Amino acid sequence: MYELIIIGGGPAGIAAGVYAGRKKIKTAIVTDMFGGQSVVSNEIQNFIGYTAISGIELAGKMEAQLRAQDVDVMDGDRVMEIEDKGDFFAVKTESGKEIESKTVLMTAGSRRRKLGVPGEKEFDGKGVAYCATCDAPLFKDKRVVVVGGGNAGLESVTDLIPYAAEILLFEYKDAVKGDAVTLERIQKESKVKIFTHTEVVAITGDAFVRGVRYKDVKTNEEKEIPIDGVFVEIGWLPNSGLAKGLVATNERGEVVVDHKTQKTSHPRIWAAGDVVDVLYKQNNISMGDAVKAVLNIYDYLLRDNK
Ligand SMILES: Cc1cc2nc3c(=O)[nH]c(=O)nc-3n(C[C@H](O)[C@H](O)[C@H](O)COP(=O)(O)OP(=O)(O)OC[C@H]3O[C@@H](n4cnc5c(N)ncnc54)[C@H](O)[C@@H]3O)c2cc1C
Repeated sequence: MYELIIIGGGPAGIAAGVYAGRKKIKTAIVTDMFGGQSVVSNEIQNFIGYTAISGIELAGKMEAQLRAQDVDVMDGDRVMEIEDKGDFFAVKTESGKEIESKTVLMTAGSRRRKLGVPGEKEFDGKGVAYCATCDAPLFKDKRVVVVGGGNAGLESVTDLIPYAAEILLFEYKDAVKGDAVTLERIQKESKVKIFTHTEVVAITGDAFVRGVRYKDVKTNEEKEIPIDGVFVEIGWLPNSGLAKGLVATNERGEVVVDHKTQKTSHPRIWAAGDVVDVLYKQNNISMGDAVKAVLNIYDYLLRDNK
């Protein structure tokens, strides 16, 4: 019987594993891979402690730190089901393991909603990007498209303004629906051009993105223009399906937590990182929140064992 099972080996899960090991909590961590979503980034420039580091290198350093702890690392596997047995959980994995644990920490993260057009997958990390906060400086003096006129899209445009030469914002609907104040601010910038009722049809290129084909959804007219990058900002999908029926989620499917402790609506399940209803989804934030969760789980286990 473990005291804690951590689900997911992104920055949140790894930070939790390091703290749990050092607190001598009997812990198992199950993950299909290490490093999480930013593993595809060529250069992460805002991870504190490194001026710049690739996603893969960072994932390797995180994994090494995790493996140096006294925790059971079960990688290359996925949690498929969490069953509440009353005072413990039975957690089933894809490889057929059944792990028993007193508490659960969900750090299964999220996945970006994809455009699903030709070229998107091929050029992922080669001009197609999903995080302007992270990657805007890589597009200095470039011409880029931001897809999505919600707040995420508008904020991406704001992040790109100091760097890109020209920014084209594509919104599928008739109007941009993000915050009016941000919209007003970006409309004042001559380098920003807004295209409504516009849909990306394909992303083209060679080794890197070179163009985008788009359609006016009113007239069905298609055009292809040269472009150096495409930022996809059409939302994200939290990996919260596992906890369905066990914990409260919001309208976006994010796990609702108490942000002081990362506790969910279930007394023995905590959650941290991109899977929860945190406003800003970032590596540094997900790790800090996961640490908070483990310290609270430690307090819970001390009380529980009295
Ligand atoms: C392309 C890109 C670049 C980014 N760049 C930056 C950046 O430069 N700086 C920054 O601060 N943030 C960046 N971000 C955001 C950052 O990556 C996330 O905020 C962060 O990864 C969240 O960490 P997490 O551990 O909560 O979740 P994730 O990183 O999503 O990790 C979750 C992990 O859990 C695993 N998992 C999921 N379900 C299961 C399951 N059922 N069983 C086992 N394992 C499971 C996943 O495979 C994954 O490994 C970027 C995001 C993207 C998409």
